[in-house]
Formats: sequence, structure tokens, C-alpha cells
Amino acid sequence: HALGLGGNQLQFFTPEMNQRTAERAQMEAALRIALIEGQLQLQYQPVADLQQGAICALEALVRWQHPVMGLIPAGRFIPLAEAAGLTTALGYWSLRRAVEDMVAWRTAGLPTVRVAINISPKQFRDAALPQVVADALAQSGIAPSQLSLEITEAALMQDLPSSDATLAQLKALGIGLTLDDFGTGYSSLNHLKRFPLDLVKIDCGLTGNIVTGADDAALVKTIISMAHHLGIEVAAEGVETEAQCDFLRRNMCDQIQGYFFGKPCDRDEVAGMLAARHAVPPHLLRIQKQPR
Ligand code: C2E
Ligand code: MG
Ligand code: MG
Ligand code: MG
Repeated sequence: HALGLGGNQLQFFTPEMNQRTAERAQMEAALRIALIEGQLQLQYQPVADLQQGAICALEALVRWQHPVMGLIPAGRFIPLAEAAGLTTALGYWSLRRAVEDMVAWRTAGLPTVRVAINISPKQFRDAALPQVVADALAQSGIAPSQLSLEITEAALMQDLPSSDATLAQLKALGIGLTLDDFGTGYSSLNHLKRFPLDLVKIDCGLTGNIVTGADDAALVKTIISMAHHLGIEVAAEGVETEAQCDFLRRNMCDQIQGYFFGKPCDRDEVAGMLAARHAVPPHLLRIQKQPR
């Protein structure tokens, strides 16, 4: 109900909304502190090459170790951070931390594997992005081919000419460019052609239906075939079952990511996985045993 201040503009401003706005402001303030006080953590989810049956990449995923609420996954605070204009700072923190971890793995003599970093729509619009990435590579000595950036279609579509220019600058650095969350929202096969991508990631929401929904199965097959014709590899996100994995392998999907292969894990666990990279873990054996 209205707050009794009389103005028509307040008629939708219920006490409940008032509280939500206050909670939001509190979360924002807490997130600013989190960035300063080091409450953020980076986890890495392994990505498997479906043909080779081994880890081929890691996706860096930020977590917020909240003093009261515990470990909060990115999905629960990134949208808030984006709305509050905090994702650019947060995104550079993720980039720096990922490069530090890659240097630590290299120093420990572990095999290198490509690391993917998520770039929010606002961070993608930051004019300094290509230079910050270039500096991070130069300072660490990490090969550009070992780093990729994941960008959503929504971010690219905001301003096509400027997106083309930014992607060209990033591409010139020699890093990988991935179209993330494909198959949701405004997905357009035309974007696969327009942008200099080397990987497209099929969204969890689509992967979840490939075994049960004929339409989504057809859509995924089309995406894979179209991407391959354009020289782009395909990863499926959110792979949770063996049946989904089978479908994707039969239909020549290149990579899978999801709880079926491995959950996001800490830097030390990643070191263990990289060390055992050539000793094929049991769930990968299961992947390999399936007939093509
Ligand atoms: P995304 O890039 O599409 O990342 C995949 C999300 O799916 C992650 O959620 C991951 O934990 C989750 N996931 C992995 N396997 C499965 C599965 O088998 N089933 C299901 N249902 N989900 C699975 P998370 O970590 O909560 O991240 C959510 C989103 O937040 C990411 O979506 C990404 O867009 C964003 N994000 C994460 N880290 C960063 C970051 O450092 N910077 C920016 N700008 N965005 C980030
Ligand atoms: Mg991603
Ligand atoms: Mg995604
Ligand atoms: Mg997603």
C-alpha cells in the first residue's frame, strides 16, 4: 500500500518493495566491501574434450565467501553486481586471480590448460579491456592461446560496430573468444558468422532438454553443424547425465562441461586434476567406453 505521502508516483511503492530495495542496497554495500577485503574466491570448472576424453580447459567462476551467508555462487550476485556497476572491477579481479593461478600451476610444473574468463556486458564495453588483457599476458608470460574470454550475445548486440572493434582488438592479442550461453534469449546463427569466435557454448537450459525434447535436440544438432561449417568449436554447458553426454558425442559436439564431468573446484584441487591429467579418471573412462 502507499506510504501516505500522497503523490501518485508512490502508489506502487509497497513496504515489501521498500524492504527489497533496502536489502539490495545492503547487498551492494557488502559486495563493495567484499571486493576490498578479499572475500571473493575463484573456482574452476573442468571442461572435457569429448573426442580425447581429457580436460581441455577450465572455466573460472567467481564465488563470494560471505562472512555470514557462506559461499555464494556467481549466479546469485553477478546480476546485482552488474546493475550496481561493480562487474568491471570484479571482472578484472577475476582476470588477475586466474592469471596468478595459471602462473602457480606453471611454476609447479603442471601441464597447461586453457582458462576461460567471463566478461560481463559492462566490462565488455570498458575501453581499457584489450589493454588490461594484453598487460596481464605480458606481465605473466602466459601464452595468449591459453586464455579465452566468454562473452554473451546480449553484450555483443548492445552496439554491433563497437563490439566488432573490441573483438578485433582482443582477437589480435591471440586469445580465444567464446560466445557464452548460446541458445537463450536472442540467439542468432548470424552472430556465429559475424563475430571472430572460436568456440560457442550451448547454454545449460538447452542442454537440459536434448534427451527429452525433440525440438531442442534438433536445435542443438543444427547449432553444432552450423558452427562446424564456420570453423567454430562447440561446448555444451550443464551436462549432468550420461544420456546427454552420449547424445552430444554422437552429434559431434567438441567439449562438455557440467556436473557429469566435474564441479567447480579450488586452485589446489585443479592442481591435482592437472597432475593426473594423463591418468584418465573413472568418469572419463565411462565417456570413452561408449560406442561412437
Ligand atoms: P556461465 O558462464 O554460463 O557459467 C556456468 C554456470 O553454470 C556456473 O554458475 C556453473 O557453476 C553452472 N554449472 C556448471 N555445471 C552445471 C550443471 O551441470 N548444471 C547446472 N544446472 N549448472 C551448472 P555460477 O558459477 O553460479 O555462475 C553463473 C554466471 O555468473 C556465469 O554463467 C557467468 O555468466 C557469471 N560469472 C561467473 N564468474 C564470473 C566472473 O568472474 N565475472 C563475470 N563477469 N561473470 C561471472
Ligand atoms: Mg561462462
Ligand atoms: Mg554459459
Ligand atoms: Mg549461463
